[in-house]
Amino acid sequence: MRSIKWIVAGLLIAATVAAGCSGSESTKKVTVISGATLFDGTGSEPIVNSMVVINGSEIDCVGKDGECSVPLGAEVVNAEGKYITPGIVDAHMHFFQTGFFDSRPDAMDITETYPFPEVAAYQKQNPQRYYNSYLCSGITGVYDVGGMSWSIDLQEEAENNPKAPHVAAAGPLITPVPGAPFDLPSDKVLVTLDSEETGIKTVQYLSALGSTGIKFWTFDEDSEEYMQRVQATAEEIRRQDNQMIAHATTLEQAKAALRNGTKLLVHSVQNTEIDEEFIELAKESGTYYNPTLIVSAGYMLAFRAAADIAPIPVTDPNGCIDSRTMELINTASQFKNHPRLSANMKNRLEAFNPETDMTREIPLTNLKKVYEAGIPIVVGTDAGNPGTLHGVSIFDELEAMQSAGIPAKDLIVMATRNGAESMRRDNDFGTLESGKFANLILLEKNPSEDISNMRTLSHVMLKGKMMNVSEIQDQ
Ligand SMILES: [Zn+2]
Repeated sequence: MRSIKWIVAGLLIAATVAAGCSGSESTKKVTVISGATLFDGTGSEPIVNSMVVINGSEIDCVGKDGECSVPLGAEVVNAEGKYITPGIVDAHMHFFQTGFFDSRPDAMDITETYPFPEVAAYQKQNPQRYYNSYLCSGITGVYDVGGMSWSIDLQEEAENNPKAPHVAAAGPLITPVPGAPFDLPSDKVLVTLDSEETGIKTVQYLSALGSTGIKFWTFDEDSEEYMQRVQATAEEIRRQDNQMIAHATTLEQAKAALRNGTKLLVHSVQNTEIDEEFIELAKESGTYYNPTLIVSAGYMLAFRAAADIAPIPVTDPNGCIDSRTMELINTASQFKNHPRLSANMKNRLEAFNPETDMTREIPLTNLKKVYEAGIPIVVGTDAGNPGTLHGVSIFDELEAMQSAGIPAKDLIVMATRNGAESMRRDNDFGTLESGKFANLILLEKNPSEDISNMRTLSHVMLKGKMMNVSEIQDQ
């Protein structure tokens, strides 16, 4: 890993004296990053030869070199030749999921080897390894859009943790289906919407816990009775000043979600191309569209690994993936004789090509249409699902979005400002502007030329603290 040069400007002793005179404000560490080409996350033209002044955890000034004054005693980071963007936001992930089937027994039941209650308890008690994976991948904000109610507690825990990205979390999901194999009797992921009262009380409870968003997992859109329950639930969401999130992958389900005021649509419409009505409904609701392009292929990759066809392909030069996850996926082939992996299934898995089959045509077409219609788009991986690993999968998702024809310079905005907006934290981060948290990343290559250059990440700054990404997981 290439290092960056640290210089201390002025006399340290002067800074110490000043701090002694003027109270605690001046004792904050001031860092200046100078010389980089900076993308501020708003979509404005990049600032060449930029300067960012960071006071404590916040940005004080962003401008061209010389536009901000450098306080005496400031630590100056010479970042000439490098690129800066705000920290990335993954607007769709799940802390209760491991990246393999142990947390998704509905897809392949391996609970004999990995008892689900133990997996779920471990996930609750050990989020730090994922915090590290996210920071290590340049991600300084994550939105957990569905899980057990403990995921809501992570919001505050992470906010107070100097080595955790900002977290927003929705908690349990509302659904027409009668529960899931990954529900524990004492801690559910899915709440079956069997009455209006169930919906209203669930919204009241999760909102009182502080949830960011209430997510609906699919709709029974042809049932008038069911949609009345949804409507009553959606009205309560608005009363609570919370926001509606929806997993709706068909055009009809997505429209049903939008008619009820969905603010975040967390999957592509996959069955057909979107139409004018969809676009109008999304604009009316002020909806953010999260295409989630790679997660389906991730399942195929995980099944292929389990079937001993090929290991899950991992690109992780900085060692961002934690050791437990690595062990889990490296031992995947112990399940090669699992009944789920029938001869038919194995044929399908053999035919899957990770080079060419990571995304499908309709989601790509729809993403381009949504983009051209001016609907705000966010970047979210659905990490935690089998084959979609926490942190590092962000780069695959960005590249898939680029392959739909989205310009890299716009992807930067989607992956930063828009993500922060979707998690209702845009007053705090998502763009590089004075008064916001100093969350940013340093890259070796220009991300606006090709979004793959996000992979040249060398450092991440979280709340004013600079970290070398190749060291984060080991600390
Ligand atoms: Zn998801």
